Amino acid sequence: MVEYIGVSDVSRFVTSLGLGPFLERLAAMMEADYRRWDEFEKSARVASHSAVGVIELMPTSDAQFYAFKYVNGHPKNTARGLLTVTAFGLLADVVTGYPLLLSELTITTALRTAAMSALAARWLARPDSRSMALIGNGSQSEFQAVAFHRLVGIRTLRLYDIDPLATAKLVHNLQAMPDLNDLEIVRCASAAHACQGADIVTTITADKKNGVILTPPMIRPGMHLNAVGGDCPGKTELHVDVLGMPNLETFVEFAPQTRAEGEIQQMPPDFPVTQFADVVRSAEPLQRRPETITLFDSVGFALEDYSALRFLYALVQEQRVGRHTIDLIPTLLDPKDLYGGTIGASRSRLRRAS
Ligand code: NAD
Repeated sequence: MVEYIGVSDVSRFVTSLGLGPFLERLAAMMEADYRRWDEFEKSARVASHSAVGVIELMPTSDAQFYAFKYVNGHPKNTARGLLTVTAFGLLADVVTGYPLLLSELTITTALRTAAMSALAARWLARPDSRSMALIGNGSQSEFQAVAFHRLVGIRTLRLYDIDPLATAKLVHNLQAMPDLNDLEIVRCASAAHACQGADIVTTITADKKNGVILTPPMIRPGMHLNAVGGDCPGKTELHVDVLGMPNLETFVEFAPQTRAEGEIQQMPPDFPVTQFADVVRSAEPLQRRPETITLFDSVGFALEDYSALRFLYALVQEQRVGRHTIDLIPTLLDPKDLYGGTIGASRSRLRRAS
């Protein structure tokens, strides 16, 4: 039988561990997996584009597990009462090829994206960073806020969204979280206003176009940019001149994928980047000069979903009660008798019942 984790199960895991500790444990698992970078089979995700969105498949594997995620990105969905991003995924045993776990990954994508953003900032941003601009206050934003508070030490959040109701929703949700009592929240009138005095700038907006959320005058030496919303060909957030700023150092997950999907799609194919795995595998922390601007050009890589699925699988196995399984794969007495053990057996049962 294959384990099944639904939306309510993930909500329960997060509630019982606490959102901050959950993100911390997930980030630790991702960091450990990024250190094992050479052990993974890696490829850019397979994307199916339409005029309004994208549907993607994201596979990876090591010697033990194979994982894939199905994920969509449809920025206009919220106007129809639907999420921009939804996902589900699967973890399988490499030795038998049998699926082990089928899981929701919509909440989990928000969790793993926030954990990855904060993990990258822990390695790349100035250690004294305390203030962050959070531009784009939709579904992902609470997770980003908590991850940066917990893992990076952010104590002031400067919020901006073109939709004031999205910002109001974020403020409401953050104010209801007891662990965030020491967080100062500032509502800003524009993206430029949000960036004022920020040590870190997170852009996590949704629009299927080459957007201009950040321009060079908004960016100060010493800043760390966490650019999350530009994650598809033709869908970016930074003005191209930001990428041309002197002292900018760019970090990516898997360069072949980011060159097609990230902010750096706007630059020539030999634009210099460093893969995050090389940062976590070097013994030395990043040497920042005061004028350095670091950019984490996040697009989301399959390894992060692998780590998340592995984490969820470990959590479900710790559970004594409340586990769900689904009969996704036949269980047979004779592995060569697929017909007899399934359709044949069901026909015999029907005959006996009639
Ligand atoms: P969402 O639709 O729930 O929220 C997006 C928010 O951006 C909305 O509130 C919208 O009003 C706001 N926005 C749009 N244009 C803006 C602008 N010009 N200035 C300020 N705010 C603006 O979407 P979401 O689920 O929060 O996802 C946000 C983005 O993150 C999407 O583009 C999604 O594809 C991307 N994403 C990336 C990763 C990754 O790993 N890099 C993972 C998940 C989601």
